Amino acid sequence: MFDSHIHLDQYDDLVLDKMLMDVNGVIAVSMGMKSFERLLNIKQRYNKVHIACGFHPEQVIDMNEVNALLNQIDKHHDELIAIGEVGLPQYLMREDDSIDQQSYIDVLELFIQKAAKYDLPIVLHAVYDDALIVLDLLKKHNIKRAHFHWFKGSDAVHDAILSTEYMVSVTPDVTWDDKTRRVIERFPLERLMIETDGPWPHKGFVKEEIAQQLFGIIDVIHDIKGVSTSDVIHQVNENTKNFYRLE
Ligand SMILES: [Zn+2]
Repeated sequence: MFDSHIHLDQYDDLVLDKMLMDVNGVIAVSMGMKSFERLLNIKQRYNKVHIACGFHPEQVIDMNEVNALLNQIDKHHDELIAIGEVGLPQYLMREDDSIDQQSYIDVLELFIQKAAKYDLPIVLHAVYDDALIVLDLLKKHNIKRAHFHWFKGSDAVHDAILSTEYMVSVTPDVTWDDKTRRVIERFPLERLMIETDGPWPHKGFVKEEIAQQLFGIIDVIHDIKGVSTSDVIHQVNENTKNFYRLE
């Protein structure tokens, strides 16, 4: 199994061997510069760690850091599996309505341009109506491969993504959250990937036990879709390998 979205740099070095033992691979995304530098280092030690470079949208924009990350993409694009995590600040804006959304859209567009330039997939934090703004940007830059991670939104937002070829992923919160269970109901199995977004704490799971978390999601997909667990595992593995061009 693959964990299609994890903040691996936020775990202690000492737990990495054990964490990675039971998975085929992980897509490790960065929050910013420090995070990306640590991922470059971890990648040297683990073949199954695939890394992405980006600036997480749920933080204050630092243009020096954004520019440094864009330079890192130019320098390391051959070592990257994707651009990300990037997107729009849904939760920050709920807390502080003085936030200028346009500045985040502008930063996102810089990263989308890098994804287009190097033909890399883009990993998106874009939930609810933010996804609609992002869809327009992706279209504008003719992006073929986009992954909406921990996706949730209204049925209308689902429909907008369903009308594209983009992928979505779900976390262990599908064991209890109707909003993300709805994503499993509405998206064909061929469009789904699974992730932990670790070390995010998911109720009833241990943050280092990523394989157990992924199995928890598989069980829910099996229940909702009525497809055998082995077929669910096979299909989400294929989806992740094809989308990220993994071998
Ligand atoms: Zn994340």
